[in-house]
Amino acid sequence: MKLMTEVVNFLEAGPIKLFINGTWKESNDGATFKSYNPANGRELAEVYEAKESDIDDAVQAASLAFEDGSEWSNLSAIDRANLMFKLADLMERDFEIIAQLETLDNGKPINDVRAADLPNAIENIRYFAGWVTKATGQTIPYSNDFFNYTRHEPVGVVGQIIPWNFPFMMAAWKIAPALATGCTIVLKPAEQTPLSALYMAKLIEESGFPKGVVNIVNGFGKTAGDALVKHPLVNKIAFTGSTQVGKSIMKEAANTMKRVTLELGGKSPNIILPDADLDKAIPGVFFGAVANQGEVCNAGSRVFIPDEIYDEVIEKLVQYAKSLKVGDGLDEQIEMGPLVSERQQEVVTSYVSKGIEEGAKLLVGGEKTDEGYFVSPAVFTDVTDEMTIAKEEIFGPVVVPLRYKTIDEVVKRANASPYGLAAGIWTENLKQAHTLANKLKAGTVWVNTYNITNPAAPFGGFKESGFGREMGSYALENYTEVKNVLISLE
Ligand code: NAP
Ligand code: MG
Repeated sequence: MKLMTEVVNFLEAGPIKLFINGTWKESNDGATFKSYNPANGRELAEVYEAKESDIDDAVQAASLAFEDGSEWSNLSAIDRANLMFKLADLMERDFEIIAQLETLDNGKPINDVRAADLPNAIENIRYFAGWVTKATGQTIPYSNDFFNYTRHEPVGVVGQIIPWNFPFMMAAWKIAPALATGCTIVLKPAEQTPLSALYMAKLIEESGFPKGVVNIVNGFGKTAGDALVKHPLVNKIAFTGSTQVGKSIMKEAANTMKRVTLELGGKSPNIILPDADLDKAIPGVFFGAVANQGEVCNAGSRVFIPDEIYDEVIEKLVQYAKSLKVGDGLDEQIEMGPLVSERQQEVVTSYVSKGIEEGAKLLVGGEKTDEGYFVSPAVFTDVTDEMTIAKEEIFGPVVVPLRYKTIDEVVKRANASPYGLAAGIWTENLKQAHTLANKLKAGTVWVNTYNITNPAAPFGGFKESGFGREMGSYALENYTEVKNVLISLE
């Protein structure tokens, strides 16, 4: 596919600057880093690298923008909503530019970006723009001598740290509820995928948001991310990423009593029941595990299959794996792209080797390419619950099937994980679907579908998959403080 002139110009205008206080700035010490195209390992662009002092600049800007009497805090609700609607319109206008940038930087198929990431991002901005004029407090009955009401006030300056697997969509999921509630933002994208969020910064600038309301600062987790988590003027951290980093953020945030919401890892069960419609269930569990190269926090990476249909399901999963078109995501025929980085390619292939070492049998895939960071979709068999590949998050295109005999057994085994992000059920029996949906310990339960998110519905984890919910009215609570006002009428 030919790259659009706008995309080429954007990449070549580098080093691309940090977006702080409504202006484009070099990093204070002049440091930069590079972003690579995972389809071929070649350099894509150079971007400025924020460190502690740049983060401080961004936080100070966000703090000023939040202050009482600022341009942002003085906006009427409808004007704030209109800025968000404008931003969504500009995302739509530049849809194809963003799609190309996302595929170049992350590797994922451009068709996926067009069909899922981008529409979802835009819908999120619009959905939350709608809330600006509708989120209300309460008037609370007490007595004739008092008037009692609550205000839902923005929590303040929020630090948002996001991963590389859905760079643009994650940025939208994060900024939308924060803007809707009137917060100001310092967003740090993942080091592997800085580009689409920088393009979003351009659109934020063009939309006309007051300076300092959204600051987008690329940098590394251990420096820029850490400085954001420690900064005393940041009131809340919203983090999406690994459970390990999430735990360290939660500990660190305790020092300044920051509010924290965490969207972390998973090892989600996807359960085929004996009566499932296999024509839907088999592709459903296959793509539930390998969509987005398996780089999905809620990937259905434990596929539970009833004993009596196990062989039939496995045979078809292998066929799907063999026929999946893997290649450069810019090719519109492609169904799966490369993993995001060489490191991720190594992580995934070492899990594949570990599976074999521990006695599982690899039926297909798991091979890496010389050029680009590809791993072919893999299907195992003879896996037991104790094996590493059945317990740990692989974050790659690896289907881990597990045999079961009874429903009670499968519920117990599905829940026997420190994670609880999502679960899938495939059945034609509605009673069974509801019963299992009640019993599974997961923030989302999908029935006869998988990986579908709705901006109006909550998403987030149980257990070590984190806490707090993105999207839906639930997300507003993450970004507000409730103030009780009690007035004597005597
Ligand atoms: P990660 O290492 O946890 O990184 C996520 C983000 O945190 C990146 O922006 C990273 O910056 C930053 N970071 C790293 N160390 C930090 C620190 N000490 N302080 C502050 N920020 C820090 O995870 P990843 O490798 O990007 O993504 C893979 C993991 O994310 C998977 O385990 C997956 O389950 C999880 N994930 C969860 C969800 C969800 O919704 N629950 C969604 C997507 C991914 P750098 O990139 O510069 O290191
Ligand atoms: Mg890249």
